[in-house]
Amino acid sequence: MIKLKPLPELSHHCPFDDARLEVLHWYIPGMRNLAELQCPKCGREFYGDLLAGQALFTPMLLEKQTGNVHDPYNVKWFADWLRNSYKNRSAAPLEFVTEDFRPLQNPLLLNCLDSLYGHCLLKLLNAQYYLEKRPELDLVMLVPKCMRWMVPDGVAAIWTIDLPLSRGSEWNDFLAAEISARLKQFDKVWLSVAYSHPHPKDYDIERFTRVQPFPIDKWYERLETPTVTFIWREDRLWDDERNHGRLKQWVNKLKAQIGARGLYLPRREQTRRVVLLAAHLRKAFPKLNFAVVGLGKPGDMPDWIEDLRTTALDATEEKAWCNRYARSHIVIGIHGSNMLLPSAHAGATVELMPSKCWGNMIQDLLMSNLDCRATLFRYRIVPATTPVIELAVMIHSLIKDLGAVDITMAPESVAHNDSNDVRLLEKRLQYLSKTAPYNDLPC
Ligand SMILES: [Zn+2]
Repeated sequence: MIKLKPLPELSHHCPFDDARLEVLHWYIPGMRNLAELQCPKCGREFYGDLLAGQALFTPMLLEKQTGNVHDPYNVKWFADWLRNSYKNRSAAPLEFVTEDFRPLQNPLLLNCLDSLYGHCLLKLLNAQYYLEKRPELDLVMLVPKCMRWMVPDGVAAIWTIDLPLSRGSEWNDFLAAEISARLKQFDKVWLSVAYSHPHPKDYDIERFTRVQPFPIDKWYERLETPTVTFIWREDRLWDDERNHGRLKQWVNKLKAQIGARGLYLPRREQTRRVVLLAAHLRKAFPKLNFAVVGLGKPGDMPDWIEDLRTTALDATEEKAWCNRYARSHIVIGIHGSNMLLPSAHAGATVELMPSKCWGNMIQDLLMSNLDCRATLFRYRIVPATTPVIELAVMIHSLIKDLGAVDITMAPESVAHNDSNDVRLLEKRLQYLSKTAPYNDLPC
C-alpha cells in the first residue's frame, strides 16, 4: 500500500547530483502513478514513478522541462511508454463514469489502466486482497471500460474510463484533474501496489468473472464428452517459426504479390494445425467436443468444430467464452495474455511457447493454488515447434491419465490414513470405467 495523500513517501534521487528529491505532490494522468519532484540542489523538476505495478520493480524519472526519461533499469518498453506519453500528452476530455456503492471514508485507489489487456486484468486481480484482508479501506477501482464487467462485488466505488487499450498508456491531464478533484476532500488516500503477478492464493477467478472454473472432481464424469478448446489469436500465430525471419517474411510478401505457387500463409497454417490436432484427437475420442475461441474472423473450420471466434469482443461475448473455458477439460493456445482467462477456468492447460517468449513463461497463466505435482501435470508448457501429432499424443494422455495421477499422487491420496485404501480402490474403478472405451493414438 502506498501513501498518496497527504504526500507520497518516495526515495528518488536527482540523476545529476544525487540529491534526494523533494516530493511536492502526486499526479495520475493515466496508467502511470507519479509523484511531482524537485531537486533541492539544482532545482530541476521531475515526475517520478510511485512504486506500483511494473514501476514497483523499475521506477523511472522524467524531467519536466526536457521530457528526458532516466531509466537506470534499462527497461526500454516501460521508458518509451513514459517518454512518448509525455511528449504526446493530451487534455482531451474522456468519459469518466462514477459508480458509488457506499460513502468513501478511507479510500484506496486501485489503478488498473494500462495499454496491455493482460496488465489491466492482472492489476484488477489485486482487488480481492483488499476486500478480504483490509475491510477498513474503501476500495476505489479505476478501470478501462473493457474491464468493468470483471470488477468484483463489494468495492466502494468504480471509476470507469472510456479509454481503449490502444490508448492505454496515454498521459491525459483532464483525467489527472478529475482523479485529483474526486480525492480532494480526503486528508488520507492510499494507492494499491497493484502487483503485476498476484499470487493465486490471493484471488478466486469466479469473484471476477462470476464463472465457476471446471470442477476437477467432475473430470471423470465429464469424460463422456472430452471437451477441448483452442485459444485463437492472429497477431501471434501457431505456425512455422522458421518463417518468422525478416527475409522469409519478405519472400512470402513478394510471393503473395506475384501470386506465386507454394505460398506460405501463416494464418492458413494455423488453421491447418488446429484442424489436424482436433482430427487426431477425434480418432481417439469419437465424442470429442472441440471448439475454437478467440479474436479472429470465423468461418473456415469444419462443421464438427465449434467456431466461437469473433472480431468484435464485448463483455457478453467474453463471459460466454469464460463459460466455454470452464466446460473444457483442456485449453490449448499460443503463449500470451489470451491464455489468462482460459487457464483460470479450464481443467488443464497446454501452452505453445514461441522461442522468443521463454523469458515470459507463466506470466500469462492464472493457476489454481494447487499441490506442486498437480500443477506440473495440469499446466503443460511445450515449444511451439512441437509436431502436431506429438501434441495430440500428449493431450490424449492428459485426458486419460489425469485421474491416475490424482489417485496415486494427490496429497489426500498419500496421506497415511487407513481408510484411504478402500476409497482409492473405488475411485480407481470409477476412473477405469470412464477411460476404457477410448482408442489409443498412433505415435
Ligand atoms: Zn539536482
